[in-house]
Amino acid sequence: MSAPVDRSTTWPYSDGEPGPFTYSRFSGPTLVAAESRLGELDGGEALLFSSGMAACTSVVLALLSPGQTVAIAEGAYYGTGVLLDELARWGIEKVEFDQTGAPPDDADLVWLESPSNPFLTMPNFEAAAAHPARVACDSTAATPLYVRPLELGCDLAIHSATKYLAGHDDALVGAVVCKRTEDAARLLEFRSRTGPVPAADTTWLLLRGLQTLEVRMTRQSESAGVIAERLRRHPAVEAVRYPGFGGLLSFDVADGAAARRVETATELIANMTSLGGVTSRIEARARWEGARVPAGLLRLSVGLEDPEALWLDLERALGTL
Ligand code: PLP
Repeated sequence: MSAPVDRSTTWPYSDGEPGPFTYSRFSGPTLVAAESRLGELDGGEALLFSSGMAACTSVVLALLSPGQTVAIAEGAYYGTGVLLDELARWGIEKVEFDQTGAPPDDADLVWLESPSNPFLTMPNFEAAAAHPARVACDSTAATPLYVRPLELGCDLAIHSATKYLAGHDDALVGAVVCKRTEDAARLLEFRSRTGPVPAADTTWLLLRGLQTLEVRMTRQSESAGVIAERLRRHPAVEAVRYPGFGGLLSFDVADGAAARRVETATELIANMTSLGGVTSRIEARARWEGARVPAGLLRLSVGLEDPEALWLDLERALGTL
């Protein structure tokens, strides 16, 4: 019932012939077990990477060439924009577009986020699928439980599996799930040559996390829905962003000082970064993203705690304003 963890970095040949596994930079049994489970969930061929950013970097470097353009959803994960800025030195161009509409014509790769973090907009999948370029969708915050990008016309589903998929804040891992075998083969070749492959223990933690994905997501989603609703009625809250599913939401208080007061006043909800873990956490995103986000924007990742206890904690923190 529980897949064994095989930490070997190399496996013996049989009669002078390499078997299915030879060297762990290429692949390994625990890695493949996790990849096939995630592939089934997203309906494609999954490849795991040493982090979500390693997965994003590999997609761009393996599938594009210098001089080509990535059209990325405005308000998508800050780190993905920073990555594309870094890759500008290697000739990759970045343009931003409103993902609720059609991508720009001159894009060589369309990059959606479902929903975007921390603005929580949803892509227009139909408009993106009509674009001739490859379409990638970072579906970290939705997981295959709520959105399956490959069924909605995308070519690649990308995950920071560090978040909901592994689910317990103890495994840094990324994933790309490919619709086409050629893309999966190219990414495997690129990963084998460049080496951003996760360790066996990490992939085992992902496998363990996937066993409870549905119950965690369902609970987090129910609780986040209740909290989003109550935040909308709170006088100190100016805007609430919640797509109607999942455990991630963001809301605005008056300014940066007010956001700092709220994030440091919660007790049950930890003041820390990341999302998708079993414990709730809140943070003002301006500390990372600067003027790209409203100064008073707080991102809340709802965990598995009692939603009433979470609300009491938030209400008390908002009461300090
Ligand atoms: N994509 C999204 C939507 C994220 O939220 C993150 C991390 O926060 C990443 C990618 C990067 O993933 P990782 O931190 O696993 O490298």
